Amino acid sequence: MPLHLKTAPTKTFADTAQQDVAERVRGIIGDIRENGDVAVRRYAEQFDNWSRDSYRLSDEEITEIIGTLDAQVITDIEFVQSQVRRFAQAQRDSLVDIEVETLPGVFLGQKHVPVQAAGAYIPGGKYPLTASAHMTIITAKVAGVPRVVACTPPIRGEIPAATVAAMKMAGADEIYILGGVQAVAAMAVGTDSIEPVNMIAGPGNAYVAEAKRQLFGEVGIDLFAGPTEILIVADEHADPFFTAVDLLSQAEHGPDSPAVLVTTSQALAEEVMDWIEKILPGMPTRDYAGPAWRDWGQVIVADDLDEAYRIADDFAFEHVQIFTQNPREALTKMHDYGALFLGENTCVSYGDKVIGTNHVLPTLGAARYTGGLWVGKYLRTVTYQEVQNTESSAELGAVCGRAARVELFEGHARSGDARAWRHAGTEFAW
Ligand code: NAD
Repeated sequence: MPLHLKTAPTKTFADTAQQDVAERVRGIIGDIRENGDVAVRRYAEQFDNWSRDSYRLSDEEITEIIGTLDAQVITDIEFVQSQVRRFAQAQRDSLVDIEVETLPGVFLGQKHVPVQAAGAYIPGGKYPLTASAHMTIITAKVAGVPRVVACTPPIRGEIPAATVAAMKMAGADEIYILGGVQAVAAMAVGTDSIEPVNMIAGPGNAYVAEAKRQLFGEVGIDLFAGPTEILIVADEHADPFFTAVDLLSQAEHGPDSPAVLVTTSQALAEEVMDWIEKILPGMPTRDYAGPAWRDWGQVIVADDLDEAYRIADDFAFEHVQIFTQNPREALTKMHDYGALFLGENTCVSYGDKVIGTNHVLPTLGAARYTGGLWVGKYLRTVTYQEVQNTESSAELGAVCGRAARVELFEGHARSGDARAWRHAGTEFAW
């Protein structure tokens, strides 16, 4: 039986789709659908105190904004973008088109076709999430999306310069300083100033995630990527300092970001909790990390590692770090997670900022049915078929006629009959 040293509620999908968030989002989307740019403008002013003639940045403005940045910032963006691009390209290369001949002259094929216009949401309410630009835009461009529209909110009334640089360097075709539901809805339904897109990708807070959920169907979405979560599986060999620091690194995302430790060692659990109490008060981001740890943090002591993996699977968290003697074991023992970070030399912060795997990952249990953002999310896997001779068409037609009549589809059956009879030189007899 696991021992719960620190308990908190475990958030569920239903918490985010909670009435007040869902209703507010529905109202904003409806208003934007009806009143277009006028409504977009009103919400940008209301939520972000942000008003401009055009929310789209011109090429001159982008150049000027990038010019304000230190050379080191640009060099670091280049480094990270090359990491992200290399991994995304390897993912793209792993997707091969196929064509098989199932009967003589009968060819069945499958190919991967990029969506023609994608919206990339780059969050920025609390922090300028520059790295989300690499993750959403580069991945779309490697997938071959011709038009990528990117939106990010102003941060405390300012244009986030490094994020704009990252958006441009990643290859965004249109850049808007616009956030929240108004950005997601404008990209999805279109306004006089933003042409609609076919799908929207990117993480965000509960409002952004709920907007994507409500608009799904009308546009595609990548996945449900809401407030960040971290879980660490640790044995008695884990470093308590690293463990504490890494739990807090994700709690700082926001007051609703859960951090959970599942360990086989009660002594380690206690040391980690002590470290957190020492480190937290000095964190400049304690106003987010503090409530996140207090209200959503959990510490669980499991009987053994198998139980720890089972508990971790039940959480199905976005990020899971494995601090055990044999971290690779988790690759076969665990099934439900957004991304695994194996061993103490890596951490979620590397995944978030530098290492090159995508940081847009499923939250609130969505890891039970999807992985994170990758080139495949921007591609449609489509099929085609061709029958190159009348003999095979007649063979298929005869079966089609019988199979369709079993289902009472006379029209379908006749398409099959027509080909079978034409090949046999028989008159039609319906
Ligand atoms: P954000 O860009 O997601 O949201 C900011 C916008 O929220 C604002 O522009 C504003 O329009 C809107 N907003 C704020 N209060 C509102 C209200 N009361 N009603 C309606 N709209 C409102 O930025 P954020 O708030 O900093 O959140 C970023 C989130 O992204 C964090 O929760 C973080 O954990 C998450 N994140 C998730 C992943 C992932 O892959 N799952 C990755 C990175 C970040």
